[in-house]
Amino acid sequence: MTIAERVREIRARIAEAAARAGRSPDEVTLVAVSKSVPVEAMQEAYAAGIRDFGENRAQEARDKFPAFGDDVRWHFVGRLQTNKVKYIVRHCHLLHSLDRPALAQEVDRRAARDGRVLPCLLEVNVAGEATKAGVPPEQVIPFLRQMAQWPALRVVGLMTVAPATTDPETVRPVFRRLRELALRAAEELGDVPGVEMRHLSMGMTDDFEVAVEEGATIVRIGRGIFGERPR
Ligand SMILES: *Cc1c(COP(=O)(O)O)cnc(C)c1O
Repeated sequence: MTIAERVREIRARIAEAAARAGRSPDEVTLVAVSKSVPVEAMQEAYAAGIRDFGENRAQEARDKFPAFGDDVRWHFVGRLQTNKVKYIVRHCHLLHSLDRPALAQEVDRRAARDGRVLPCLLEVNVAGEATKAGVPPEQVIPFLRQMAQWPALRVVGLMTVAPATTDPETVRPVFRRLRELALRAAEELGDVPGVEMRHLSMGMTDDFEVAVEEGATIVRIGRGIFGERPR
């Protein structure tokens, strides 16, 4: 299959999953995760209508920004070291991987210097996997209560990476939990400045349909669009 065919197929599967849940497919943004993918393949995805790309390495993202115009939205989905924030802050449309106060502080400092407010998602380690980034579920509300001290940062939702699985049904409770956490946060933090629970970034190649059924507003698809990554 070509990249254009894969994009079409993924979009069709998103639409079917949305329909099963009584949702409109327009509520779901497809982010093409292009980490380690050459610009030429990304241009094929662009020609197939993709306007959202996800990267997980700051220098790689920085090197790719100039290859596309202002109509492309760059999502940063990987673990971000504070000393690399400077590479991405100007071009990043949405940072999916806010996971600690030190990162919030550095993003706030850099974004303020650029005169912008950077939308972020708080990454949650729902399943408590030792190897995964993200705050534990019980830290979501305490973390968000601190947001007012970082005025150049705005949290617009939550993000999670579910445990790897061959049967996506096994991770449905992870997605459901993220949605419940966002609802709770919205109720409890309705008036905290800099916090707005609009987005759930959840679902990857192996589990995105279940994530859409559970309320994902952003899915992050790499292999399903670009094929297996070189290892
Ligand atoms: C790599 C990656 C993806 C995409 O994974 P696929 O399984 O290739 O779809 C999504 N989210 C994050 C955070 C990633 O690192």
